[in-house]
Amino acid sequence: MTAIIELDTQHPDPALIQEAASIIRAGGLVAFPTETVYGLGADAMNERAIRRIFEAKGRPADNPLIVHVCDRAMLDLVATEVSAKYEALIAAFWPGPLTLVLKRKPQVAKSVSAGLLTVAVRMPRSQIALELIRQARTPIAAPSANLSGRPSATTAAHVARDLEGRIDMILDGGATNIGVESTVLDITSEPPVILRPGWVTREHLIDTIGRVDVVATAEELKRSPGTRHRHYSPRARVVLVESGSSESVEQLCKDLLQEGTVGFIGHSRVAIDNPKLTAIVMENTADEYARSIYSALRELDERGVNVIVVEGISEEGEGAAVMDRLRRAASEAE
Ligand code: AMP
Ligand code: MG
Repeated sequence: MTAIIELDTQHPDPALIQEAASIIRAGGLVAFPTETVYGLGADAMNERAIRRIFEAKGRPADNPLIVHVCDRAMLDLVATEVSAKYEALIAAFWPGPLTLVLKRKPQVAKSVSAGLLTVAVRMPRSQIALELIRQARTPIAAPSANLSGRPSATTAAHVARDLEGRIDMILDGGATNIGVESTVLDITSEPPVILRPGWVTREHLIDTIGRVDVVATAEELKRSPGTRHRHYSPRARVVLVESGSSESVEQLCKDLLQEGTVGFIGHSRVAIDNPKLTAIVMENTADEYARSIYSALRELDERGVNVIVVEGISEEGEGAAVMDRLRRAASEAE
């Protein structure tokens, strides 16, 4: 049985979070909203609890988890010293969607790091998440609260759809406000490297600490094992049309409709009158795409369409994170 508890996003009642915190302390699993997507949390210092996360999600054991802390002091429980240069990142971006990869302390459950000598840590901005960690009095490891490989969950209903019966509790704080995952920045290397683009852009990071690289080679990608696996994918095949491509999304939809049912997600209006087509039209902005893309992919999956055509957006600024997720959703990798 999975209990679902509704909370006010801005001012969650601490008394309602008590039970969730006890579950975490007892080694159980609680899904909770962050400002990016919903997370599936367990005590980061409890190896058995962490293994339950991998089981519930069907997550490959070589994909490490992000540890969530509620204040700067808690970071010292999981990671070794942070140099003064990088304290500036914490001061500028925490709480917020920036995950830092640091050298781990041995007290952190082994599976959290999936065999690496590092640990990824962030301080979320959501009041519900912060209060849960505070009351649990332990860092909480939490990957996105979806079955492995599926689009991330941005509402409690998405979490329930994937994980009901497999986890102990869901804290329902409504739809998350950003909608795509945090930026993962490895600061154990010099210069630091972005392992996963996210809502904190490379430009923002450079403004704060100077040179920042982006992971480029397959060799480097081994440092972020999770990015190798199939990700963010609905059951239907996804065809992504990059922004600036000469291909007409309308013509593509028409062609694919010859073969079966089609879903369309994009900012252009497709003037096709065909009951086999379901179109979800959104504003041409990174904000709107980030907030809506996972629920749109899930909605089209629920309708059982055969193929989903996604119209891409510009890769400038936050658009880079959105396009990263869309390319992975469209990739055939396993
Ligand atoms: P998720 O929380 O499911 O969105 O995935 C967490 C992401 O953080 C994955 O891309 C992981 O590969 C990455 N990650 C977590 N821990 C580490 C680490 N110690 N080193 C590098 N990447 C990490
Ligand atoms: Mg994930």
